[in-house]
Order: sequence, then C-alpha cells, then structure tokens
Amino acid sequence: MMTKSILWLRRDLRLDDNPALLAALQECEQLIPLYIHSPGEESPWSPGAASCWWLHHSLVALDGELRKRGSRLVIREGKSLAVLQQLIAEHNITHLFWNRLYEPAIIERDSSIKATLTGAGIHCNSFNGTLLFEPWEIQTGQKTPYKVFTAFWKACLKAGLPRLEPAPAPSSLPPVPGALESRTVDTLQLLPSIAWDSGFHDAWKPGAASARELLDSFIEEAIESYNSDRDLPGYPGTSRLSPHLHFGEISPHQILRTVRTMTPFEETMAPTGQNVYVKQLGWRDFAHHLLFHFPQTADNPLDERFASYPWQWKEDAGEILWAWQKGRTGFPVVDAGMRELWHTGWMHNRVRMIVASLLTKNLGIHWMEGARWFWDTLVDADLANNSMGWQWTAGCGADAAPFFRIFNPVSQSERFDPGGEYIRKWVPELAKLPDKAIHAPWMQKTELLAHAGIRLGDDYPMPIVDLRETRERALAQWSLIK
Ligand code: FAD
Repeated sequence: MMTKSILWLRRDLRLDDNPALLAALQECEQLIPLYIHSPGEESPWSPGAASCWWLHHSLVALDGELRKRGSRLVIREGKSLAVLQQLIAEHNITHLFWNRLYEPAIIERDSSIKATLTGAGIHCNSFNGTLLFEPWEIQTGQKTPYKVFTAFWKACLKAGLPRLEPAPAPSSLPPVPGALESRTVDTLQLLPSIAWDSGFHDAWKPGAASARELLDSFIEEAIESYNSDRDLPGYPGTSRLSPHLHFGEISPHQILRTVRTMTPFEETMAPTGQNVYVKQLGWRDFAHHLLFHFPQTADNPLDERFASYPWQWKEDAGEILWAWQKGRTGFPVVDAGMRELWHTGWMHNRVRMIVASLLTKNLGIHWMEGARWFWDTLVDADLANNSMGWQWTAGCGADAAPFFRIFNPVSQSERFDPGGEYIRKWVPELAKLPDKAIHAPWMQKTELLAHAGIRLGDDYPMPIVDLRETRERALAQWSLIK
C-alpha cells in the first residue's frame, strides 16, 4: 500500500532545514503540505494584526516555493483535529509529520491531537525545527530549569552547540492530488481592511528567500562589529531576522551553520561580534526554556512578589497609555520607538527596553498592557520572547533587570543615539533641533525651540510625567513589596 503523509506546517514556513519535511519524504511516497488556520486555538494569544500581515505574505511565498517543486500548499480553516481527521479519512493518510512549538496552549492541543490520532493508528512524528536545544535538554546540575541566562548559555556551550548540517530544500516534491480542495490565502482575511500597512511593505519582504538574503548580507556587512553596533537604534547594526525566525522561514541551525562557515566563530564567552550574535540565539532558546518550564509567565510574573505591585490597568491608565501607544509621551526616543513600531511592525531592541521601562516604572502601567500592545503591533510578536522581554524590563521575570534599574530615556538617548539620527527619522517635528538638544526638548530655551520651528505643547507634547518624581514613586512602591 502506498504510504501517504500530511506535513502539518505551522511556524516552520520553509523547505530547507525542515526536519519534518525531510522525514516525511524519507518515509512516505505521497505528501500533502497542509496549513490549518485556527487562530482561536492559540487563545488568549492568537496572532495579532501585524503578525497576521506577515503570515499572509509568508504563506504566499511558501506556496510559491512548493509550486516550483511540483507541489502546492493546501490551506484549510477550522479546528485542527477535525481538519486532520477529515483529510486522513478522505485520503487514506498513514503518517503525520510536524515541527514542535512550545507555547502552553499549543503544547496542550498538539499532545491531545497526537494521542487521538496515534490511538487511531496514524504514525505521528514531531521534530525540533525551531530551537538550538529542546527546552528540556539543558538543565542545572540539580536537574532543574535555569533561571539565569549566563549560566544557561555556559551550559549550552559546555554541551556543545549543535553541528547539524541543515538539509537543503528538495528539488522536487510529490504532487498533491488535483481534486484536493484548498482555501486561498486571501480568503483567510489576514490583511487589514483599513490600509495601515504601507510602511510594512517598505520595511519587509516575508519569506524564506529574503530571510536567507538578509542573513548573508548581515554576516558580510555587520556581524564583525555587531557587539559595538547592536545598541545603536539609528544604525543598521542588527540582523532584523526576528520575524523570519518567529515564522520559521529560517532556523537557528541554518544561522549557526552560516556563521560558522562564513566567519571565525569561537563558541566561547569572548565578546566578538560573532559570539555575541550567536548568544542572542541563546537568549531566544532561553526564552522558550522559561516559557516551557514556567508556562504561567505569559500572563503572570515569575517573581510572585510582583503579584501585589500596584500597576495600573488600561481602564485606569486612560490617556497616558494612549500617549505611549501613539508615540506622544514628550520623550523623543520613546516616541521614536513607538512610531517605528506602528509604522514598520518592529522596534530596535535597545528602544524596546527604554519604552518598556517608561511604561512599567515611570508611568506605573502593568507590563501586560505593554506586552499586549506589542503583541498586536509587532511582526515578530513571539510569546516566549515577548513575555521574557517585558518581565525582564519590569523587573519581575527570570534574570530580570533589578527593579531599581530604571532607564532614563534622556541619558539612554544621549548615549545610544548621540547624533539624534533615530529621533529625526521617526519624530520629524524635532528634526531641526541641534544634536545636544534633541533628547530633551522641554529643557531647551524657548528661542532655540522657536528657531527649530517648535512650539512645545502644540507641535510636540510636553513630557507626560516628571521622570524624577515617578522614579521615586516606583521605588517607594517597590520597597513595599520586596
Ligand atoms: P538581532 O540582534 O539580530 O538578534 C538575532 C536574533 O536573536 C533575533 O532575531 C531574535 O530572534 C533573537 N534575540 C535577540 N535578542 C533577543 C532577546 N533579548 N530575547 C530573545 N531573543 C532575542 N523578540 C522577538 O522576537 N519577539 C518579541 O515579541 C519580542 N518582544 C520583546 C519585548 C521587549 C519588551 C523586549 C525588551 C525585547 C523583545 N524581544 C522580542 C527581543 C528583541 O528585542 C528582538 O528579538 C530583537 O530586537 C529583534 O531584532 P533583530 O532580529 O535585529 O535581532
């Protein structure tokens, strides 16, 4: 009997280094590449609007790659188990292959699907196509999960970073039976009905081919100086691969292998550009390690003392939260970051920390409100990385920044955007201010502001809070719970 398989594609939207695809081709003669649209199953963290935009274009790109090889993407909508059962019954499927995901709701769904289908005699096979190490592979000497990144990364290096030889995309694929029905990507309605996405088209090209191009040019042009440039938001010093990694258009193994072959990479803690870059992939693994072992941290602080910190929610924060979301706080580097996010669906890492610190510490708003806004607006919104990033900045997560380390948006801006390029790009109303003045317009003389064409309060807002007062308030509130 002919062995027939489904390759259930989820966030592994690529054909090269795809372990589930490779295994399916080795074991089965027929292959149906399937994408099931079932956002409700990821609730309460169903993909946000910016992620949906990316997903649309990524599915189109993947379908194109499959068609070049004689196959096509079959798209269905509905409950995953029901869709799988229907296809299995209609086409005498014997095998199911997928790459694992690690969000709590997805683990629960996938485990239940595996149990049901295995019980029905289907061979279910899942693989690691997403991380350097599975979240359970790296453990402390006491067999417990790590909560401190440096110790985690040292353990990864000691274990030896994987040396897999990522498989290239197959040159041809078995055809999908012509009668097999599929939705088109358009009918999933992932794109916005109001066109707010023009900036996204200028900033991104979703799909595995452009992920590859981005990686190659980053390694050729920027990895060497990554350690010194990665904190400068006005300079293209980072790889911008985060959405491609989130949707699995490129894998960390492919990145590691390319870094190894194109550059001198030592696999030590030495702060070379290559080492520090690969260490960021370690942060990504660490975030998944944390979410896997502490699944409550998508919605609750890992440090339980923070359950009683008096953060404000949306209902009470009102105008202040709106000003932060829209980039109207009066702090130029914060407003630049929030506008970059709105316009392109991405924000530089240094600025993510600055805007998150202002929200959670100076504005006293719950980190979950920030995490939710990022979730809806980031093209790279990723539950593990986002939860860790927010809890790190708010001071309540694993290996978090100590609560008392409150980023000052003015000194951060002076240090990391000294020439004001980043601010000028995203807050053009301040563009004519001199370099030294651009970080804190409210501290400048009226004549200087007038010369730059700015009337504070009209053309650009006054700061929405006093940095010193709010810092002291946050520290006083912290001293009550610590
Ligand atoms: P590079 O500097 O080129 O790094 C390469 C890759 O390493 C990234 O693509 C990313 O996959 C990974 N990486 C880098 N830094 C981190 C980090 N601190 N934590 C985990 N992985 C990292 N990243 C997301 O991918 N999705 C999110 O939803 C997300 N939310 C964040 C929220 C906050 C409040 C903070 C402070 C950080 C968040 N990050 C998130 C982490 C980081 O800001 C982005 O991964 C990074 O800015 C992506 O840009 P890049 O691809 O150029 O990174």
